[in-house]
Amino acid sequence: MKITVTGGKGGTGKSTVATNLALTLAKKYHVVLVDADVECPNDHILLSTKLENEEIVKLFKPKFDYSKCTKCGVCIEECAENALLKFKEGYPFLMPTLCSGCRTCQLVCPEEGAILDDYRIVGYTYYTKLSENLELVTGKLENGEERSYPTVLAARRRALGIKADIHLFDTMPGTGNHVAAAIEDSKVVIAVTEPTPLGLHDLEMILKLLNKLNLKAWVVVNRSDLSDISHDSIVEKYGGEIIAEIPMSDEILKSYVEGVPVVVKYPESKPSKIFESIAKRIEEVISWT
Ligand code: SF4
Ligand code: SF4
Repeated sequence: MKITVTGGKGGTGKSTVATNLALTLAKKYHVVLVDADVECPNDHILLSTKLENEEIVKLFKPKFDYSKCTKCGVCIEECAENALLKFKEGYPFLMPTLCSGCRTCQLVCPEEGAILDDYRIVGYTYYTKLSENLELVTGKLENGEERSYPTVLAARRRALGIKADIHLFDTMPGTGNHVAAAIEDSKVVIAVTEPTPLGLHDLEMILKLLNKLNLKAWVVVNRSDLSDISHDSIVEKYGGEIIAEIPMSDEILKSYVEGVPVVVKYPESKPSKIFESIAKRIEEVISWT
């Protein structure tokens, strides 16, 4: 079963929810936690473990053989990303960071062998075994790389290649296709938010995306006692459900400082009980499917 933890904005505690939930579920199920927040993966830090078993994520880029190029310019015209410029002499020249790797240039080029295969590194995936019941797959973008989608897909592919009861995805912030790629096929989507105007605004964005994908959101309000701002009407409007409110607590703060997840360090604390209650809701879904 696929579960996704997401949130419109960064810094809401999405990774804290994902890691603590993964640890709680791993008491009973075989869980693969997938850190798909490829711009800033931090689940391994919260779990005090290392990124291991690196695999490179590569993307096609064209390599020109100018001895075969007739300077017709078709590739430049057809590149939807405007990644090809014309040299003064008339030859195409690639701006690698703009290239999506779509291969259109190669397909439309009338001269055989004028555009050859080359690749650039856009990211990495990692695999770390934490215990018999908990494995972590992480996606990480190459420094300076802007295209996150291929790395999210590679992490997703690597994780889904591992047989498990639960694949728990921790997405990037936002509502772009990199988030949709992680959310796709989820049985349960947990949207983490906080009671701030920005939190409310971004929650609405993610609820709209989930509506489009025909998915119901379970909303977790983190730092719920930070203000009186209510999420009720917005959650109701999009047919979601607030399943938990996590107040600020000393135990969570101390667990951050000590680098040990709260469900491990303070299993009897209120936040740990809340994670157990979310895990129970997930168990109910598992029992129906
Ligand atoms: S692979 Fe696609 S994006 Fe890259 S240069 Fe060719 S047409 Fe443009
Ligand atoms: S389409 Fe082929 S032949 Fe034409 S400019 Fe591009 S590389 Fe050269």
